[in-house]
Amino acid sequence: MNQDAKPARAAIIDAIRRAARQEQFLEVVSAAEARRRFDARLDRAPLAGESVPLAAALSRVIATDVVAPIDAPPFDRANVDGFALRAADTLGAAPGTPKRLTLNGELIACGVAPVLEVVSGTATAIATGGVIPRGADAVAMIEHTELIEDGAAPAIGVHRAVTSGQFISFAGSDIARGETLLRRGIQVGSREIGMLAACGFTSIEVVRRPRVAVLSTGDELVQPGQPLRPGGVYDSNGAIIAAAVAEAGGEAVPFGAIADDKSALERAMRAALASCDVVVLSGGTSKGAGDLSHQVVSRLGSPGILVHGVALKPGKPLCLAVIGKTPLIVLPGFPTSAIFTFHAFVAPLIRARAGLPLEAAHAVTARVPLRIPSELGREEFVLVSLVGADEGLVAFPTGKGSGAVTAFSQADGFFAIDALASALDADSQVEVTLIGKSERAPDLVIMGSHDIALDVVVGALAGRGVRARTIAVGSLGGVSAASRGECDIAPVHLVDPATGVYNKHLLAPGLALVPGWRRMQGLVFRPGDTRFAGRSAEAALQAALADPATLMVNRNAGSGTRVLIDSLLRGAKPPGYANQPRSHNAVAAAIAQHRADWGIAIAPVAKLYGLGFLPIAPEHYDFLVVEARRQRPAVQAFIEVLRDEAVRDRIRALGMEPAAQESI
Ligand code: AMP
Ligand code: MG
Repeated sequence: MNQDAKPARAAIIDAIRRAARQEQFLEVVSAAEARRRFDARLDRAPLAGESVPLAAALSRVIATDVVAPIDAPPFDRANVDGFALRAADTLGAAPGTPKRLTLNGELIACGVAPVLEVVSGTATAIATGGVIPRGADAVAMIEHTELIEDGAAPAIGVHRAVTSGQFISFAGSDIARGETLLRRGIQVGSREIGMLAACGFTSIEVVRRPRVAVLSTGDELVQPGQPLRPGGVYDSNGAIIAAAVAEAGGEAVPFGAIADDKSALERAMRAALASCDVVVLSGGTSKGAGDLSHQVVSRLGSPGILVHGVALKPGKPLCLAVIGKTPLIVLPGFPTSAIFTFHAFVAPLIRARAGLPLEAAHAVTARVPLRIPSELGREEFVLVSLVGADEGLVAFPTGKGSGAVTAFSQADGFFAIDALASALDADSQVEVTLIGKSERAPDLVIMGSHDIALDVVVGALAGRGVRARTIAVGSLGGVSAASRGECDIAPVHLVDPATGVYNKHLLAPGLALVPGWRRMQGLVFRPGDTRFAGRSAEAALQAALADPATLMVNRNAGSGTRVLIDSLLRGAKPPGYANQPRSHNAVAAAIAQHRADWGIAIAPVAKLYGLGFLPIAPEHYDFLVVEARRQRPAVQAFIEVLRDEAVRDRIRALGMEPAAQESI
């Protein structure tokens, strides 16, 4: 070892030591206590008003009550094309006994001020929108009159009696001068813009939108659009939080991603504090290596950090601070945790300052079919998908951890497990708080194993107007959902270890099996790896097993692929056997990134990752169909789509072989 390497090595060991020692949270408080402490220091009043042109007022919040300066309509107005007259003159008019009225010598078009008075026995021609002339109190529709041309002065015959006021909109009947047209706090929509324009307004006083600085932190973060370097992840929090700020009525001010560097972070936070009403940062708040955010926040000024550590899952490392009068929130970096805590602690604050009312939480009752273990001492929020079963709503946990980007957006809502409970029992009834706008219930519920070709089928269904919802719960999860009648269709690919036959053993009374497609499974390796390239799968496997330096990647117990792997290995447990990811993609990624040398996956995935592939055996991906629902139009459409030649071609293009058409 040379001289320079020694201090470098010492520094690394030092850093590792610090990371391993991990600071603990000083004090973890309940969510309610965190909110109380934060609220006590915050001004939640709507910001001051600003004048904006009407065209820019959409979705803004009205700052001061608007009083109508004019009447609308500004004058008594004809609602139909016809004749302005005195209703009393038409008394007794009927098709057989029309009433004759002499026409006055003017025609009232829109925008024309009438000159002549309508006296008894006369009428004046008027267009829709015309000003009712003096003396008239009603309008007869042109359809109920006829022109009389008998040589004398022009006249009409009225076939139908009209009542006083008929077909007239009176001045101020729509908007009355002096009435409060719009109240403060109302969010401006197209209707409000129309009302304001009808009164002649060109601008309107609205609440200033709170400027919310959005910062991300982490050495690993890469901005979308840039290539992903090894170990890098895209900065998704920056984008989702900026959009959520806008949804909550704020104006996001993006600061991008800042490296895990104290002085860079401090500079960025100070700039954000100087120019914004609220500062939101995500990441760097756990107490692990490189997590500096709270250290920097503690240097920014008083009152400083109010809460760091909330008994909340997801979201424990949340840090709430106020610097001067400006709230500064450090959200956990994990995307689901970040967006969850944003909605719980930050969105209500932005809404309040934007002058918007708190969002009313909509909740529904649902049954949770499985037991969910929960950590004691932390209130746990479980994101769920809702499915309508025969007996009511059923809530399925989306099952993705707090690191998932999709968990929040794919969930219909969430429910809480009390901090004092160590689990939620299966079949408990829970109150699910709904997230976002509730959509129409899906026409078809598909629960089980997911496959990329299934997306082709769902896409074709959408083309036929059938809205399918897929919930990935794995083959076994699909089997139990189908047997409980919680879904219409369960995609499965499980081999019966006793017979080697796929899926047939899963059939139970009330279920039918519809064949789907075959996916070739094989040994996957990096192209050019001479241990595998050019050999048969069996020969390659033997070579791999003979070399202790060759590392495999396994699959999770319960997967069809795992059954195949164990039968190939015949009891052997080569290095890497304990690494058991849950998907074909994870196996391919491990090999592509040199974290393993071989594994078993399906051909389309090997192709997607540019890996070598030695075929072994086709896996059958089929559908359990709940018999009682088979006749439903959406289920019938699903089966028709499987038979559709265009769909089958698209499935083939992905590398799968659809089952024979006559077997479907
Ligand atoms: P941290 O809170 O910095 O310890 O980050 C926890 C996890 O969240 C890590 O896996 C980070 O890579 C991830 N993470 C942090 N910030 C972001 C971000 N802006 N976008 C996506 N993932 C992030
Ligand atoms: Mg970080």
